[in-house]
Amino acid sequence: MSVQELHRLGVADLGRALARREVSSVELTRHLLARIDAQAHLGAFLARDAERALGAARDADARIARGEATPLTGVPVAHKDVFVTRDWPSTAGSRMLAGYASPFDATVVARLGAGEPGGAPGAGMVTLGKLNCDEFAMGSANENSAWGPVRNPWDAARVPGGSSGGSAAAVAARLLPAATGTDTGGSIRQPASFCGVTGIKPTYGVCSRYGMIAFASSLDQAGVFARSAEDCALVLSAMSGFDARDSTSAERPPQDFHAQMLAAREGAASARPLAGLRIGLPREFFPAALAADVGDAVRAALAEFERLGATLVDVSLPRTELSIPVYYIIAPAEASSNLSRFDGVRYGHRAAAYDDLLDMYKKTRAEGFGPEVKRRIMIGTYVLSHGYYDAYYLQAQKLRRMIADDFRACFARCDLIAGPVAPTVAWRLGEQADDPVKAYLADIFTLPASLAGLPGMSVPAGFGAHGLPVGLQLVGNHFAEGALLHAAHAFQQATDFHRREPGERQA
Ligand code: GLN
Repeated sequence: MSVQELHRLGVADLGRALARREVSSVELTRHLLARIDAQAHLGAFLARDAERALGAARDADARIARGEATPLTGVPVAHKDVFVTRDWPSTAGSRMLAGYASPFDATVVARLGAGEPGGAPGAGMVTLGKLNCDEFAMGSANENSAWGPVRNPWDAARVPGGSSGGSAAAVAARLLPAATGTDTGGSIRQPASFCGVTGIKPTYGVCSRYGMIAFASSLDQAGVFARSAEDCALVLSAMSGFDARDSTSAERPPQDFHAQMLAAREGAASARPLAGLRIGLPREFFPAALAADVGDAVRAALAEFERLGATLVDVSLPRTELSIPVYYIIAPAEASSNLSRFDGVRYGHRAAAYDDLLDMYKKTRAEGFGPEVKRRIMIGTYVLSHGYYDAYYLQAQKLRRMIADDFRACFARCDLIAGPVAPTVAWRLGEQADDPVKAYLADIFTLPASLAGLPGMSVPAGFGAHGLPVGLQLVGNHFAEGALLHAAHAFQQATDFHRREPGERQA
């Protein structure tokens, strides 16, 4: 493949080409930086620095030459701006953090890059920059970023989804083979679906939250966007694992998700790699209000899973609808607490002129936060206040447990759960901007797994209206990332939706 085509390759292929010295990381990085510049209109990147990226690429080439490479060394990546980075600004899409320079790298960033200080070397991926997102990861369309929207590479008049819109758009536009994201209530799965890329949010606790600017700490989880399940597995293996600096990090040995993805199922044959796999279809995930184009693509994908040997079983998640009010109480409650640190004293923006301390707080926060963030701080403060705590927050916590119990009942009857990621394909920019509740309702299929702390994926499953991508959601039991990736990989071996590129005509 010529250098001019390198953006077509994913993580696994690039890793192999680099290891064989068929291409250098510097050549690859130069090529992708030129593409990023040429597609600046997408708004995917908030920070780029060619010199810094090329320096990391030179280091990676030297490491490969020394024979010390990992399968990811020299492969480019970029991080959602919610991860703090020592070498790049970290704003979380907010004016509040304009120009903020973190003194350390998030654990996920360090593990994918040069490694943690004093620790083992990292995977050696080359960071190309920081990616646009909704302010503090609050949103479903990337229209809440203080730095402007991101455009969907399949149709620049449409949103890429959110809150990790920059990550999804950059991978879809072939600016990068992989990007990190975070998912609190769907922010990896939904933009992956809208942009036609593969995304995985692992079980809560699999990736460290250390250095991830907090939105709702009991829900926030890091994950990956890439072209394929295989590429996701490689990156997730390198970024995940126990971290003593995150008190909710799962204490388990390092996982090789790639090996788990490749492991053959017992009793499976090559034509029927998913023989014996039971996929549960919650009836609440196929309501009458589901857009016909999304429903058709999802059903066609499920028929392919059946051809691959899986059995489809009817299950029920009866509290699916309730996950919306539950999430939109718990997430704002945690956000109101987490965002109290942005007070103009410790870091970030501070109002230029004020009368006294209280006035400084008020002006700083009024200037620094955008409207959606303010809305959530107000909702969160309200549901936590005396007299309302029992009526709202406590009830929401009880329902959250019941939603998790519903999943447990399902997993007695199936191995994975499948359904749509979102009720529609990507909408037009501005279409929902004046109706936050409409956007909240569109989170209905991603919120349940988030509340239960379960791993979820979006897998390119076909195309709907206007040739826009549709994702299939797969949800696994706790720590079943390997089973999720295995099923998604088998589907991708049999289909080519994940290989389609924006700009091609879709049949
Ligand atoms: N759309 C949801 C919200 O606005 C989810 C966001 C996320 O997962 N970060 O809160």
